Amino acid sequence: MFVTRFAPSPNGHLHLGHAYSAITAFDLARSNNGRFLLRIEDIDGARSRPELCDEFRKDLDWLGLEWDEVPAQSTRLDSYDSAVTSLIRRGLLYRCTCTRAQIGAATLLGGSEGPLYPGTCKGTETDPALPAVMRLDLDKAMTNVGELIWTDEEHGAIVCDPRDFGDVVLVRKDEPASYHLAATLDDAADGVTHVTRGSDLFAASHVHRLLQELLDLPIPHWHHHALLLDTDGRKLAKRRNSASLADLRNAGEDGRLLAEQLRLRRLPSGISMESA
Ligand code: GLU
Ligand code: ZN
Repeated sequence: MFVTRFAPSPNGHLHLGHAYSAITAFDLARSNNGRFLLRIEDIDGARSRPELCDEFRKDLDWLGLEWDEVPAQSTRLDSYDSAVTSLIRRGLLYRCTCTRAQIGAATLLGGSEGPLYPGTCKGTETDPALPAVMRLDLDKAMTNVGELIWTDEEHGAIVCDPRDFGDVVLVRKDEPASYHLAATLDDAADGVTHVTRGSDLFAASHVHRLLQELLDLPIPHWHHHALLLDTDGRKLAKRRNSASLADLRNAGEDGRLLAEQLRLRRLPSGISMESA
C-alpha cells in the first residue's frame, strides 16, 4: 500500500506552503491508489497550541482533501522512550549539558544546518543535576552501519551523509524525543512509504535514514518538493506575514479553486516557487 502523510506542527496557522505540501502528498497518494494521512506533530509541548489542530482539519477540508488521521505525537511517548533505551544500551547516545551559549562559543565548524556541536560532553561524566539533552554519537553510529543509500524520487539514489547535523540531538531537555527521532519512528509506525515534504527538510532525511538503520525500521522513499517563496525569495513562514489558510478561508475564498491553482503552479502575486 502506497502511503503519504502531511505532518504539521500546531505552533502556528498553516499557510500556502503547507497547502502545497499537503496537496502534493494527497495527489501522490491518490494517483497511486494509496492512503493520505494527517499526523499532528505536537512533540514540542511548550510551543503547541492544541486549538490549532481543528483549524488544520478545517483547512484541509476547505482545500478539498480527504485524509485518515493517525494519533498525534503526544500520544506516542512510550515508543520514543523504548527507541531511546535501545540506543543508550548500545552506547550510541550521550548526555550533553552544554548551554546554547557554550556551544556557540566552542564551535569552530558550521554545517549547512548551523554551528556544529563540537562534542564537548562526549566521553565525559556530566553533572547529573544539570538538565541535559541526549546526542547521537555520529561517528560510532556511522561506523556501526557502514554505507547507506536512500532514494529521493527527484534526485535518485543518495549516499547517506548526516554529518551536517553532527552529533544531532535525539532527546531534548524538556521532551522525550526531538523532531528527528519522533518523525522517523512515527513514519515507520504509520506505514508511510513515501515521505513527502519541503526541500528545506532534505538534509534532515540523511539523519532519518541513519536512524531507520539503527532502529531496524522500514526504509521509505522520499519526495522533497520545491518551496513557495515570498517576494524576498525567502520561504513562507508562519512567523512572517504570509496569509494563513484560516484567514483566506474566513474571508470566503474558494479553497478548492486555490488547490487547483496550486496544482497548476499558478501562484498568487508576491509568491513564487523555488527552482528545482
Ligand atoms: N512537523 C514538521 C513541520 O511542521 C514537518 C515534518 C516532516 O514533514 O517531516 O515542519
Ligand atoms: Zn555538551
